[in-house]
Amino acid sequence: MSIVRVALDMPLSTLFDYVLTDGVAVMPGQRVIVPFGRKQVVGVVMECAANSELAAERIKPVVRVLDEIPPLPAELLTLLRFCSDYYHHPLGATVLSALPVRLRSCEPITLKEALHYTLSTIGRALDLSLVPKRKVVQQRILTALQAGVLSAAQLRALSPSAPTALKALLQSGWVESVSLKPSLTLSKQGLTFNNAHILTAAQQQAVDAVTQSHGYGCFLLHGVTGSGKTEIYVHLMHRMLQQGGQVLLLVPEINLTPQLENYFRSRFPDAELVSLHSGLGDSERTQNWLRAQSGSARIVLGTRLAVFTPLPQLALVIVDEEHDASFKQQDGLRYSARDVAIFRANQRGVPIVLGSATPSLESYYNAQSGRYRLLQLTERALAAAKLPTLRCINTSNAFMQHGVSEQLLTALEQNLQRGEQSLVFINRRGYAPVLMCTACGWLSDCPNCAGKLVLHLQDRRLRCHHCGHQVRVPHACPSCGNADLQPVGIGTQRVESALQERFPEARILRVDRDSTRNKGAWNAMRRQIHDDEVDILVGTQILAKGHDFPNLTLVGVLNPDGALYSSDFRASEKLFAQLAQVAGRAGRADKPGEVLIQTAFPDHPLFRALRDHDYNAWAKILLAERQSAGFPPFVYQVLLRAEGKLETGVYAFLQQGREAAVALAIAVEVYGVVPAAMPRRANHSRAQILVQCESRKLLQQFLRAWKPLLDALPAQKLRWSLDIDPLEF
Ligand code: ADP
Ligand code: ZN
Ligand code: ZN
Repeated sequence: MSIVRVALDMPLSTLFDYVLTDGVAVMPGQRVIVPFGRKQVVGVVMECAANSELAAERIKPVVRVLDEIPPLPAELLTLLRFCSDYYHHPLGATVLSALPVRLRSCEPITLKEALHYTLSTIGRALDLSLVPKRKVVQQRILTALQAGVLSAAQLRALSPSAPTALKALLQSGWVESVSLKPSLTLSKQGLTFNNAHILTAAQQQAVDAVTQSHGYGCFLLHGVTGSGKTEIYVHLMHRMLQQGGQVLLLVPEINLTPQLENYFRSRFPDAELVSLHSGLGDSERTQNWLRAQSGSARIVLGTRLAVFTPLPQLALVIVDEEHDASFKQQDGLRYSARDVAIFRANQRGVPIVLGSATPSLESYYNAQSGRYRLLQLTERALAAAKLPTLRCINTSNAFMQHGVSEQLLTALEQNLQRGEQSLVFINRRGYAPVLMCTACGWLSDCPNCAGKLVLHLQDRRLRCHHCGHQVRVPHACPSCGNADLQPVGIGTQRVESALQERFPEARILRVDRDSTRNKGAWNAMRRQIHDDEVDILVGTQILAKGHDFPNLTLVGVLNPDGALYSSDFRASEKLFAQLAQVAGRAGRADKPGEVLIQTAFPDHPLFRALRDHDYNAWAKILLAERQSAGFPPFVYQVLLRAEGKLETGVYAFLQQGREAAVALAIAVEVYGVVPAAMPRRANHSRAQILVQCESRKLLQQFLRAWKPLLDALPAQKLRWSLDIDPLEF
């Protein structure tokens, strides 16, 4: 019997056995349609075997082998197995979630980009006279292929029935599909490399270090914004593309990909580039994925999900803004694309570059300990582009209006007069985070969550940012009837209207999730900013990331203090990264930039390090804190989360889980059951248990023992998950 073990998108850790009809051959990595219950589903063949543990009559046959695309490469299957093991997520769900949606459905896929075909080893050994004479088209194809590799389009030109004949030849194993060899595309045209700068000594050193690494090496490229990291990327890419390699470039934000796509295309106009992110339509994403798999796409630019793209000639991986939390998936397979990328580079034996102006503490620590190589750029690449000067405005003795100090207003006014752009950064959308009754102290709580309803004045709504619940703004206090309801705190809309009132002539643009919701809105805004049609930008972190606004010279930061003394131990690390990034928007061109930070703690070491542009000093402080508190990167963590409508059920489940953990008597630290940071969301109670250990290996050993025990616990009406290396609590 020919048995195949198939990965299916099911919440079970097992593979499923099916039997193949006689004469049908499959390979691991091939997709198949199989019966499951009363449905037919798509799965991926993970193993082929001669027999099964199941009784023969219980094994159902494979309905169809989907062979219009080549099988997933063994290397990708290994990567997915690793992810399933490491993140303790069912293998089938892991494999299927790594595929574009189209490839998970039974619908046939038509390849827009033509694959290439060649004779297989047996095909080459084949005596053509043995092929039945009536199979004219097959004969023709085989003859043509003896001359070399041909594209599907070239084969189609041989006969209208070429696709059918080709299919038969593929099935018989005489012909196989191949990825287009890079030399075929590039040697003809050469590889154009536009606008290559002559590298500075520091840049050259970085490029040399990476290109001289034979095989795997993980490089942490630490350089302030504008220090020329991107220029290093393109030089490295050029080198790898010339050698026929493919490059995988991971970026945190979908928003950034169109710009970056254009940018890299302009630098390498004749290297095929595709992007992969969740903003693409299913069809385009599938096509791009297939072009990467076929090897025709040389540069793959994508968000975290792109880390699972098959890349037969992968030669270099770059993770830009490696510290960014969006590389971590927060549901399903809770993977860190950065960490998976490192595994992948290691598996493939190629270098990986992690770039950032503010590396994650994990990466920085690894660079200190020598696991990664540290490459530092300490100055901006363009001598004229000075780093911005930073000043703190002490809010404890400042006169504030709608959260904006008089000093900042004055600076904004002067900048307006100079005709230069300003940015006011506040990480809170809406008008105010909460509405309050001045008589009885009523607050606009969300009825479903442990959070507040945010006041959105524009459409006169109170809206929960956690569950989406919304109501009209009440005319009077729902509790005491008092008509005087006051907004408390500030959001982007409030700052926008306050600034508009103060500077009626100024062209003010608000950029946050609300104002950029419509497709294309953000692109249009970016153009406005670039074309100097905006004087003052008011916005959230959307504005902080990676955008280059040459006329922007003043940045004001409102309200960053919450993160300084937060219960989340990563909050201040994130704040530093965010502020360094916002500050990096100022003065990139020939104009010096200035950053004003409103804070009640101007002497906090975070602001001091920021003022001195001294990430290293800050990282050292944080590392010392983390070490003495026993936090990552000095320990590895896993979080067991549970949520359900019944609070008692959630806590009972976690308590049992905790007892099971303790009973295992493995030397890991098992903390108590505690409420989540947001203890109630959308009418669900949420709680968690943290487990940590200094040894990653031991923690994994513990998890292997614990997971089956958790699986066996009664968990009616609740959802639970394990989050390995969690970033959010
Ligand atoms: P980063 O990615 O670190 O923010 P970039 O690579 O975008 O920095 O470089 C910042 C600016 O400096 C860009 O305008 C870039 O063209 C320019 N630049 C980078 N490297 C050089 C160089 N070696 N010589 C001249 N200009 C450079
Ligand atoms: Zn009241
Ligand atoms: Zn809510």
